[in-house]
Amino acid sequence: MIPMPEQQYGRLRINRVDEGGAGLPMSMALPGIGDADLARLARWFQHDSLTAEVETSLFYLNVHSYVLHCDGKVIVIDSCNGNHKQRSVPFAHMLDTPYLANLAAQGVRPEDVDMVMCTHLHADHVGWNTRLDNGQWVPTFPNARYIFGRTDYEFFSTQEHEVFHREAYLDSVLPVVAAGLADIVEESTVVHHELGDGIWLEPAFGHSPGSCIVNAKCGGQHAVFSGDIIHHPVQMVRPDLHFFADEDPARASVVRKSLLERAAEQEIALFPAHFCGTSGGFVKRDEASFKFEFLV
Ligand SMILES: [Zn+2]
Repeated sequence: MIPMPEQQYGRLRINRVDEGGAGLPMSMALPGIGDADLARLARWFQHDSLTAEVETSLFYLNVHSYVLHCDGKVIVIDSCNGNHKQRSVPFAHMLDTPYLANLAAQGVRPEDVDMVMCTHLHADHVGWNTRLDNGQWVPTFPNARYIFGRTDYEFFSTQEHEVFHREAYLDSVLPVVAAGLADIVEESTVVHHELGDGIWLEPAFGHSPGSCIVNAKCGGQHAVFSGDIIHHPVQMVRPDLHFFADEDPARASVVRKSLLERAAEQEIALFPAHFCGTSGGFVKRDEASFKFEFLV
């Protein structure tokens, strides 16, 4: 895994904490992708999961959190899959990863974290909200407020058909609520300071019913933590294609394209939840589509 270089934007410091990663068949993840799209991607991005052909390429996803330090506060954005969780999908089932050691390597202990923000309530974004303690799921970050968007919170409280995300809701969201550490908020909530300078949620519905992005601008470069609005660099080449795990693929595609346009126009630093490589960077226009200048 290629490390992300620490970023300092004004009063805001950003690091990445890794959990792991996995590759899916490219043709399954992004139906309609073609060899010509991969050729276009190869002009600015290479990865050992990619070949010249869709049939032999993988759609590789990192799983990581971002840790923000700002004005003495420590904020974790998206908390990966977590350890020891019973999941009906093999890639997330009973994981035992050194996530907390990776966090500690950055000088952050669980009790230091002031806030956990989940861009949405899918299983790979809420897992480390809790950890197993004597057979009970307890909040991993005992001094944190956990910020959950109301739309996803209500959606996953009633939808029984999505087994994998429902499992995560039960063991990684509800125990936090029971412990009194959750704030169920509207999806346009300012969590620190004021709009335009601070850290705030913004609705970006489509990938899940209540998916959000997190904006951060603290006296320097504007950064956006985009959660699952975009999963892989190849979607910069083809933002129009439907991603297999988007709940409302057409809406998600519109949201993705509009975020990429805004990031390119306003020179926003983008930090997607699953990009491989150094993960963060700057969106640039590339004729009719986009490309990404990764942090170096
Ligand atoms: Zn995700």
